[in-house]
Amino acid sequence: MSEPAVTHDSPPRISVSSTSTLANRTGSWKYIRPRYQDGVAPCNARCPTGVDVEGYMNLLREGRIADALDLVLRENPMPAITGRVCHHPCELACNRAQYDDPVAVHLVEREMGDRVLSMPPPVLRRTHTEKVAVVGSGPAGLACAYHLARLGYGVTVFEEAAKAGGMLRQGIPDYRLPRDILDRQIRWFSDAGIEFRCNTRIAGEYADKLLRDYAAVFVATGAHRSRPLGVTGEDSPRVMAGLDFLKAVNRGEAPEIGRRVVVVGGGNTAIDCARTALRLGATPVVLYRRTRQEMPAIAAEVDEAMREGIAFEFLAAPRAVHHLQGRQAGVECERMVLGEPDASGRRRPVPSNAGTFSILAETVLTAIGEEPGLEALPLHAAAPDQALIDELGATPAAGIWAGGDAAGIERTVSDALGSGKVAAIGIDRAIRTRNGEEVPPNDIAELRWSGGNISMSRWRGDDPVQRHGATNEVVGFDRLNTAHFVHVTRQREARDADHVTVEPVGTAFERATDGTAFDFGEVNPGLTAMQALEEARRCLNCGVCNQCELCLILCPDVAITRQEGGTGFDIDLNYCKGCGVCAMECPRGAIVMTREGL
Ligand code: SF4
Ligand code: SF4
Ligand code: SF4
Repeated sequence: MSEPAVTHDSPPRISVSSTSTLANRTGSWKYIRPRYQDGVAPCNARCPTGVDVEGYMNLLREGRIADALDLVLRENPMPAITGRVCHHPCELACNRAQYDDPVAVHLVEREMGDRVLSMPPPVLRRTHTEKVAVVGSGPAGLACAYHLARLGYGVTVFEEAAKAGGMLRQGIPDYRLPRDILDRQIRWFSDAGIEFRCNTRIAGEYADKLLRDYAAVFVATGAHRSRPLGVTGEDSPRVMAGLDFLKAVNRGEAPEIGRRVVVVGGGNTAIDCARTALRLGATPVVLYRRTRQEMPAIAAEVDEAMREGIAFEFLAAPRAVHHLQGRQAGVECERMVLGEPDASGRRRPVPSNAGTFSILAETVLTAIGEEPGLEALPLHAAAPDQALIDELGATPAAGIWAGGDAAGIERTVSDALGSGKVAAIGIDRAIRTRNGEEVPPNDIAELRWSGGNISMSRWRGDDPVQRHGATNEVVGFDRLNTAHFVHVTRQREARDADHVTVEPVGTAFERATDGTAFDFGEVNPGLTAMQALEEARRCLNCGVCNQCELCLILCPDVAITRQEGGTGFDIDLNYCKGCGVCAMECPRGAIVMTREGL
């Protein structure tokens, strides 16, 4: 027998209660309950500078651009520079990479950095009588100076060269970091009240003397001496230290390198040397003893170098440099194979039986690493090859801190910035403790983004991002509910986009394919402001509630309400029956289910 058709005249018979469902306290059924718990986004944990990437992406999404800029500047004083030269490990860690493409964090950061440079610098109010001396004006020195000035100290930066910037100015070519950007950044620091004393060399004894006038000294003198190759014929006039070559070109000189140039090394200095030599009209070959996978250089820079037509000889190491007739040298090379992993975890190159081969060159540029400059440190503050520091940058010499490339950290700009910030916190803590002030507890781990770099906002206790039930746990991709996301293509820079909507046009690559020579104009054009905002909207805000209200909408017991005037939510546990729908549906993994009574 078929069921009678349901019409408006014959509604289905369902039980209807005339009393309020509030009487039905389903909360008594539960044995687990939801808890709002913000975690740490992987990008934050991996940024060596300690930037709250997730936080500023969310502020950009909300259109709160000034707040987003403020949040960046709390941790990173030079986003225009890191946006250009950081190796952006944040993007390697980005959860979105497992969904479609990682968020282009460095490009968003760069656009924000350019905005910062076009704005007046912050007013850094002096709240402490103490002054701090910073020796070296590279990224570590500048970061330490900025953070100390922000913390209210008077700061003087001493620089041996005629202009501030350290390795940023001397080692990084124009096409990656235009001088104009660096000059504006230094002016921004100086306008913010940081004093610069250039053409001033500080050696160990003098660093001690600085303590008469300064409450603390931070030494960040970098690593400026290229390591020798250790092969016969290295003293040939055709062999030049890669860093000296870059410094000369960055000073505006044009060293005579000839046409055939061999660059030995696989790091950023090697790639910078090769691309700079190319721009001086040479045809460089990069000789690297491991394979492309093991290269420590920024992968995108290697891609660019290959795109520009630079040749690479992998699994090859120089054995000798033979001085030939005239201005020529023969680089005798040995074929290598990869053996067992070494201390760095990379497989060690060992000579193969494939014999040797030679490359003819007018110049050999060596770029197999640099040695730190430790002259400004007292003897007991340095081991033979690096400054000795504790977890807040203090050396064994009273009153002296150290950081940056001289202190054995990863040799990247963002790591140097992070180490400058860490030392600023160490100095602040030491001075305030000496003055009898109460300082935050000693647990440095709590200041870190889940084992990553230190958050200055955590140190100051004034994090503007409201976190609910905050933990220091990284929220990985498996904690996200991707059912609520849609695929969106990552924004690309003008030269990569199909539709070229942004200026400037005519990047180095385009200029070169026009048949003209490569020049030192900036290679990467960056994103427009609109593109940067679009890209920020791709951020999934991993681990942090961004007020999407899905939990509130989807709770079957209507147990969730928005807090009056606040950014959080209340769960009425009288009605929450512990079904876990909210935690399951939260796109960001910002709700966890916990056992009752825990
Ligand atoms: S400094 Fe580097 S790692 Fe940190 S957020 Fe910026 S691009 Fe990413
Ligand atoms: S999606 Fe956003 S919050 Fe998540 S890891 Fe990537 S940049 Fe960070
Ligand atoms: S569902 Fe939305 S509102 Fe609820 S906790 Fe997750 S992110 Fe926040």
